[in-house]
Amino acid sequence: MVMCTGCLFIITAPSGTGKTSLVRALLENDADLRLSISYTSRPPREGEVHERDYHFVSRAMFEQMQANGDFLESAEVYGNWYGTSQRWISDTMQSGQDIVLEIDCQGAAQVRKFFPQSIGIFVLPPSAKALEERLFLRDKDAADVIQRRLDAVCEEVSHVNEFDYVIINNILEDAICDLACIVKAERLKRERQLQMQKNQVLVSRLMSF
Ligand code: 5GP
Repeated sequence: MVMCTGCLFIITAPSGTGKTSLVRALLENDADLRLSISYTSRPPREGEVHERDYHFVSRAMFEQMQANGDFLESAEVYGNWYGTSQRWISDTMQSGQDIVLEIDCQGAAQVRKFFPQSIGIFVLPPSAKALEERLFLRDKDAADVIQRRLDAVCEEVSHVNEFDYVIINNILEDAICDLACIVKAERLKRERQLQMQKNQVLVSRLMSF
């Protein structure tokens, strides 16, 4: 097992649940969280920026990186490959920072094997109808791509029990608040608090009263 001093948050959701907006808002309000930028063989959507949203690479390059063992986890999702950089995770972990992974449930299962202490958060839409509407309103994918994503919802949601927390993204502000509360609660856990030297010193002083 690899030592992890910071918290490792895994955020998973069916496509169109608003996970990306949620994560973006979380990061804007929390300078101590670092988001892992995944590699993908998917072509960029309009407005997406290389190295900000993803590292966009060709399928051949992705396969080469897989063969080299460059990924902590990787998975084929809706016909494209996605993966998390092994090097970035170990460097960031060594610096003790908290990490957010925005990945699918196959990737979440792989990460959990290496880091059983990771914190899994599953985001659900308020209803099936809302999910469908969001995917069509987003208007970023072709109709057949949207249909493929809707077809996958049932399988994805069947993994909900593998996660520690569930957020229903009905009102975005409420969901952002829920997510921030989870992050805060995890940081306040005893093991985490007592990892910090200054807190250990405080406890020892108080115990010697
Ligand atoms: P999208 O194409 O909509 O950006 O992402 C499609 C799916 O791939 C989402 O469920 C997203 O969470 C997932 N995904 C993004 N990056 C990664 C990754 O590095 N690994 C895995 N396993 N899934 C990812």
